[in-house]
Amino acid sequence: MRLQGKTLLITAAGQGIGRASALACAWEGARVIATDVQPALLETLASEAPQVQTAVLDVRDGAAIAALAAQLPPLDGLFNCAGFVHEGSILGCDEAAWDFSFDLNVKSMYRVTRAFLPGMLDKAAQGSAPSILNMASMASSIKGFPNRFVYGATKAAVIGLTKSIAADFVARGLRCNALCPGTVDTPSLRGRIANAPDPVQAEKNFIARQPMGRLATVDDITPMVVYLLSDESRFVTGQALSVDGGVTI
Ligand code: NAD
Repeated sequence: MRLQGKTLLITAAGQGIGRASALACAWEGARVIATDVQPALLETLASEAPQVQTAVLDVRDGAAIAALAAQLPPLDGLFNCAGFVHEGSILGCDEAAWDFSFDLNVKSMYRVTRAFLPGMLDKAAQGSAPSILNMASMASSIKGFPNRFVYGATKAAVIGLTKSIAADFVARGLRCNALCPGTVDTPSLRGRIANAPDPVQAEKNFIARQPMGRLATVDDITPMVVYLLSDESRFVTGQALSVDGGVTI
């Protein structure tokens, strides 16, 4: 049990990578607080894994984040997973779309981390090794992709935010890393494929991005999540770790 005794909180755990991560961490012995803005998704998660505690949380709502942080014990691990893919170039991104993406993909991490960090630092002072994991993407400062203008900008910001937190708190025993997946088969990816003018071709194009010749499954990503939230990664901080099927070879 690689996460035995740890209390973790995961945002956007209702579906996709966040949900699979909540289950993987629980199977490794963690007490997992799985949060999402959609209550219905959390109900099905709780029925699948009774040991996972669920809480409705909108990561855009600072008051709700503060209220949840006040209720919970200090965390050993935090996975800021929530994010949204806006499709289009700069010409298709008006200020409202820019602000929405930065609020959900980046400012949410500032809000959630700021609320839970003091408790995590207390845990670090008591000798445990708390870890923060932020969801970035290969579409970021790592690589540019067409029609991922504001998405790539937000995920680059996540990497910068991650490195700053890592630098500020490394000497106090807290680690912070970013995860950069390739294209992962999740409900929102299926939605992007279904909404494309030619869904069959769109799926082929998404697959073709990975030299390994397939989409990632969520189970390709969760081992890295478990590793980065566990003490196995105790000498790893400030890194943007790619799990991308060879995209960035
Ligand atoms: P998804 O997009 O299918 O699901 C997103 C989840 O986020 C949903 O459960 C939704 O209810 C929740 N959510 C939306 N707004 C929220 C809010 N305001 N507060 C709390 N929760 C909210 O899941 P996914 O595709 O696994 O993506 C998860 C993360 O992984 C995102 O940050 C995404 O950018 C990133 N990512 C995904 C891929 C991919 O190919 N799927 C690749 C790289 C990175």
